[in-house]
Amino acid sequence: MPKAPALVGKLAETLMGRRARVLRTERIAPDFLELEFRADPPAGGWQPGHEVQVRATPTQGRRYNVRTVDAPDRITVLAVLHGDGPGARWLQSLHPGTETTLLASRYVSMRLTGTHRLLIGDGSALGTLDAYATAGRHPSTVVIEAPSASVDRLRGRWPHYRFVPAFADDPGAMTRAWLDETLRREDLADVDGALLLGHAQSIQGQRQALVGAAILDRNAITTRPYWATGKTGL
Ligand SMILES: Cc1cc2nc3c(=O)[nH]c(=O)nc-3n(C[C@H](O)[C@H](O)[C@H](O)COP(=O)(O)OP(=O)(O)OC[C@H]3O[C@@H](n4cnc5c(N)ncnc54)[C@H](O)[C@@H]3O)c2cc1C
Repeated sequence: MPKAPALVGKLAETLMGRRARVLRTERIAPDFLELEFRADPPAGGWQPGHEVQVRATPTQGRRYNVRTVDAPDRITVLAVLHGDGPGARWLQSLHPGTETTLLASRYVSMRLTGTHRLLIGDGSALGTLDAYATAGRHPSTVVIEAPSASVDRLRGRWPHYRFVPAFADDPGAMTRAWLDETLRREDLADVDGALLLGHAQSIQGQRQALVGAAILDRNAITTRPYWATGKTGL
């Protein structure tokens, strides 16, 4: 529901809306906002990686993911602040005590394969990848391309993830450079599954590189675009 008439948005809110109250907002890095909500759980309860939609405006929906579930009705969401779109403005309008509505259905996990996974994304995917890496029983290699001003703070908080600084006008380029070099050194030989999230055009290139190097079959790679150059609100 990225763009829908106000009436459709209202109907979705009536069917899927969970009452939520902002408990905390924290800039954990210059470009990253962590939000804590007390929110009525959907059927089956909140899960790390749960997808939520918000009505950023009466006609514009945006999607975010739950990073942590700290109590049955307490969740956090991690968002990258990248511009001035409706989602970014909605996020920055929130403060402790704000009442809002999160749209959520029963949790459906993404299909992941393998026991040593490669998880790649950009800032928009950090919360989701952290949720899946933390929940997984298997070791994961996590690579995140993030705005350069935030990289040091993120490394301090997640020292076991690899953060590469993004070029603002060439999303995915630094991740691709890391991937090409790592494939060249044959350092991914033990990887048997991958999850690629974030910038649509970058994901395509990453998948081609992994399949082309015969590291993984296409069906061992799960992808989900979160945003695309030239598009708003996927
Ligand atoms: C299932 C799903 C889960 C998601 N979970 C999260 C999450 O947990 N945290 C999170 O931060 N994001 C998440 N996203 C991504 C987020 O919904 C998009 O970034 C969304 O486009 C932001 O809306 P906006 O109104 O701020 O920008 P839009 O109005 O949608 O876009 C404005 C411009 O900014 C560009 N743009 C959009 N997103 C980005 C970005 N991340 N970096 C750089 N440029 C961008 C667009 O191409 C467009 O040119 C998720 C997306 C999906 C589909």
